Amino acid sequence: MPQIRFDAVCKSYGSVEVLPPFDLNLADGEFTVLVGPSGCGKSTTLRMLAGLEALSGGEIWFDDKPISGLEPKDRDIAMVFQDYALYPHMDIARNMSFALRLQKVPKAEIKQRVETVAEVLGILELLKRKPGELSGGQRQRVAMGRAMVRDSSTFLFDEPLSNLDAKLRAKMRTELAEMRNTLNKNMVYVTHDQVEAMTLGDRIVVMANGLIQQQGTPEALFKQPANKFVAGFIGSPSMNFLEATVIDENGSLQAKGEGFSLRLDDAMKTALSALKTNDVTLGIRPSSFEMVELQSSDADLSPDSMIDLRTIVSEYLGAQSVLVTRCGTEEVRVEVESASPIPNGKTLSFAVPPETIMIFDKQSGVRL
Ligand code: ADP
Ligand code: MG
Repeated sequence: MPQIRFDAVCKSYGSVEVLPPFDLNLADGEFTVLVGPSGCGKSTTLRMLAGLEALSGGEIWFDDKPISGLEPKDRDIAMVFQDYALYPHMDIARNMSFALRLQKVPKAEIKQRVETVAEVLGILELLKRKPGELSGGQRQRVAMGRAMVRDSSTFLFDEPLSNLDAKLRAKMRTELAEMRNTLNKNMVYVTHDQVEAMTLGDRIVVMANGLIQQQGTPEALFKQPANKFVAGFIGSPSMNFLEATVIDENGSLQAKGEGFSLRLDDAMKTALSALKTNDVTLGIRPSSFEMVELQSSDADLSPDSMIDLRTIVSEYLGAQSVLVTRCGTEEVRVEVESASPIPNGKTLSFAVPPETIMIFDKQSGVRL
């Protein structure tokens, strides 16, 4: 498989710069996910790679070969579009074999390739039907199958699951993950859904406003987000952000805000002292809160790390609950393991382990 390299690639529509110059390397055989909110430039990036959109500057390389001058059909790429783009008058077998017939692949080989792929995707019994006679999920698989029969070195997917209902989406996600493990192909997958990104990607590229915010493994993005945007975008429920002022109290760092005083990790001292201000943004994952039983006197907790949260809505999910709470005027989401539902309006106290609290520069959003 070729290694794909974007070198100072940029894109403008008229005078509007959608993507300022950026570099991006996609390693051989890797499943890369481009994820970010709608309008951030994911499809544009993918379409430039496929040859459906011209570059405004820079070059895309396949190993040491520049490809921006090549027609889409000469790029050894197969693309699955969000809207499937199936031919309504052709049956499924002919839809899937369309590109192979154009390439004049022998009939027997076409039949064999279509059937093998159809079997993998569980659509073997649908080959004689027309697209209009299929459900959305089945059409989605055909669109995927049409790309897979081509045996290209690189597969591009543009939000292929976004039209499916939640259950089918989860199923297709699993199938894709399985496919990723069995095919040794370059795959570039675009989605706005961070769960899809986390479950499918070997490597995730997070984009916002036309800029690459960070790239890395799912674990790296979750544990070491570069900035507030990535921290808030990756993980579900989302990270909570609280404005706070850092105060040194007898050598220990306290972050104080409306309704809380939380102890910070001593390891943060150097980074914090380099800041010009004491005002920071704290980031706390919903799973980092530890409920404090007020009655129990033996609770091993220091009173220098407490936050009081008033429950607004409690989403009871069985094994755990997600509490939507308020701390002053800020909304805070908390994951608790609870045997029974927690009543709304109740105020609860939580401790937050200092090492789980992330600190962001209030101005730039960069994580300290
Ligand atoms: P995403 O796929 O991340 O939702 P797109 O790559 O489709 O985003 O679009 C990125 C930006 O480029 C958007 O602001 C969009 O409005 C703009 N854009 C996309 N296509 C065109 C076009 N043909 N003409 C002008 N602007 C466009
Ligand atoms: Mg798009």
